[in-house]
Amino acid sequence: MNETEQMLTAILNCRRDELHLNKLSLTQSQQHTFDTMKKRRKAGEPLQYILGNCDFMGTLLKVDPRVLIPRPETEILVEKIQIQWRARKVEPLHILDLGTGSGNIAIVLAKYFINASVTALDKSADAVALAEENARDHKLTERIRFICGDMQNFLNRQMNPDEKFDMIVSNPPYIRTKDMNTLPDDVKQEPVMALDGGADGLDFYRMIVSQAGDFLNPNGMIYFEIGDGQFPAVQRMFQDTNSFDNVAVIKDYRETERIISAQVSA
Ligand code: GLN
Repeated sequence: MNETEQMLTAILNCRRDELHLNKLSLTQSQQHTFDTMKKRRKAGEPLQYILGNCDFMGTLLKVDPRVLIPRPETEILVEKIQIQWRARKVEPLHILDLGTGSGNIAIVLAKYFINASVTALDKSADAVALAEENARDHKLTERIRFICGDMQNFLNRQMNPDEKFDMIVSNPPYIRTKDMNTLPDDVKQEPVMALDGGADGLDFYRMIVSQAGDFLNPNGMIYFEIGDGQFPAVQRMFQDTNSFDNVAVIKDYRETERIISAQVSA
């Protein structure tokens, strides 16, 4: 669907094939809503914020300026986990999602692994509130525990003394601070907190990799989404700890290394 069709199907609550764009008739208030949407879009607001939702792997999630809009690249991360863990048959799976944002990764994994329990952390209370709403919409509140808190404090075990997980998943902020002002206009409307990964964009990978070993069960895995050109540095982080093997990478639709995974050493 193009953007106009997405706006109209949202306003009319109909499918694309019901639109008949050439003889479309809108009530006055629908026309007003449509005009407002177009105006907001022209002013550079991301389409998904205007619509109030987005599709992530076939799951409809509420999104607004409190959270990063889930990206198609992140679907590659979730697919990889689904394929690897469907085969492993560990039950119940314990999943830790660091920097959950809208809750997209946590929610889709909890839907897919029907016995999994997910812990999802975010520093932003606003993001956690929206992610909880999304979990409620999908009836997953009993299996997803949201924690509002700082990742470093969490990793220092200030929040959970001894829990272990089968996997840690994260799409952390990974844009270099000095690149923040070169982002496209619509991305600039997304939360800085969800994008800025520090001077070299790697702050969160360093933080997680250095402490993750202590959080993982035997055979446990880490899965990260990474930014352009960050693969060699993150791979080195895993190797330097001597606690991870089987570092693997997956490229995205533009042939850019986008997902990295590693397994905790036996
Ligand atoms: N993929 C986002 C972008 O290109 C960045 C998301 C992130 O920092 N994790 O803007």
